[in-house]
Amino acid sequence: MTIKRIATPKRTSEILNKYGFHFKKSLGQNFLIDVNILENIMNQVGIDKQAAAIEIGPGIGALTEQLAIHADKVLAFEIDQRLLPILEETLQNYENVQVLHQDILEADVRQAIDTYFDQGQPVHIIANLPYYITTPILMKLLRENLPVASITIMIQKEVAERMAAVPNNKSYGSLSIAVQYYTHAEVIMSVPKSVFMPPPKVDSSVLQLMLRDTPPVNVENEEFFFDVVQASFAQRRKTLRNNLTRHFKESLEREKIVQLLEAAGIDGTRRGESLNMQEFADLANTFYLELKK
Ligand code: SAM
Repeated sequence: MTIKRIATPKRTSEILNKYGFHFKKSLGQNFLIDVNILENIMNQVGIDKQAAAIEIGPGIGALTEQLAIHADKVLAFEIDQRLLPILEETLQNYENVQVLHQDILEADVRQAIDTYFDQGQPVHIIANLPYYITTPILMKLLRENLPVASITIMIQKEVAERMAAVPNNKSYGSLSIAVQYYTHAEVIMSVPKSVFMPPPKVDSSVLQLMLRDTPPVNVENEEFFFDVVQASFAQRRKTLRNNLTRHFKESLEREKIVQLLEAAGIDGTRRGESLNMQEFADLANTFYLELKK
């Protein structure tokens, strides 16, 4: 028996026509119609029958089907009620898939992992994310410190580049630090617009994030650290000294800021984009300890 995969233009059109389904742009619905891309992702992630997979936004099941074939168990969160009966049909041959009708931003993912997967089973999150909320979804998953080995996401190319960027690169910014504080980030694949239905306006990339056991730097206070990072990039062309003076104008004199930069061992005439994560940590810790006095 030949199995007709979901991720082909023909099968996708058939399914959409059968259910009279119309794409909702507001939910970032661009469905994958290329099996080769999906198989490539499976190979790169190295999912096997020991592993569990979480998918965000299964759509009509193109990626879910591949996960069901390669992983032990699959749990998918889908916000669009209209897709549930469709998924019921398209995934009927796969008994290891559970679809939850939930907004991922509201979902208790930790609890779901406990409920649906075996204890100690490696968990991988894989998704072709709705582009309109890529960053909020990813930051939610990272901040929750979930028991997850990797997160592999298909996202807008520029956003993937920003998340994986290193210092002195034009894409490097507060998002790079936020993502790399929790993970090792690498862009592993480019994805052309033509493999989606409907094709999106932007190019895509697959970003692979391997979660760290511990953060790469010690920070006194995480919230303060991210706040200092954000302030340092507020106006990219300005020096650190100027950005920080503006940010701390209510609490610190300019002279004090110059002193603190010196104490942290960082030249205030540098720009935020030249600092690595350790330097940001030194900077934030020095300011934090002063303000806590
Ligand atoms: N995985 C499918 C594929 O690759 O063909 C569909 C990907 S499509 C880019 C994004 C999917 O995420 C859609 O099915 C959309 O309805 C769903 N979605 C959008 N916002 C969501 C949210 N907040 N929580 C869960 N799913 C969401």
